[in-house]
Amino acid sequence: MAEQEIVLWPDLRLTEVCVPVEEVDLTLLADMFETMYAAPGRGLAAPQIGVMRRVFVMDPTWKDGVATPYVCINPEITARSDAQVTGAEACLSIPGVEAEIARAETITLRYQDAQMRMHENNFSGFAAACAQHELDHLDGKVIFDRLSTDESKRLQAAYA
Ligand SMILES: [Zn+2]
Repeated sequence: MAEQEIVLWPDLRLTEVCVPVEEVDLTLLADMFETMYAAPGRGLAAPQIGVMRRVFVMDPTWKDGVATPYVCINPEITARSDAQVTGAEACLSIPGVEAEIARAETITLRYQDAQMRMHENNFSGFAAACAQHELDHLDGKVIFDRLSTDESKRLQAAYA
């Protein structure tokens, strides 16, 4: 198990739609957690280490002293609240940029775990935002794609 190099924007791999996971790669999952915690971040999607598969890991609370690690394989949002919340988001692939993004306050996420068991969980608050951010990566979207054109241009210019 080893920390992997994080793919940085504007690498085109961050704009690609990932393919479903058919078989679990435990080494990949371990590498993803190690890379996420070392970064340090609270979520990491496979394309961020150059693996174009539909899997992300997250641990929305470890920075608050309580670890709640999730492996989300082939994740899908099956329900989302109409209510949205706007919060500051950062991305390990776009270091130094923080953007205010509106997301559904609560989502229901269907996903498979490291044993390929199916789960359907409700997430709210920061965990919901984190899951939506990571799922976006699997569809080739980053925080810039969730902003108005003007705001996106402004932040991209500041990043470049
Ligand atoms: Zn990100």
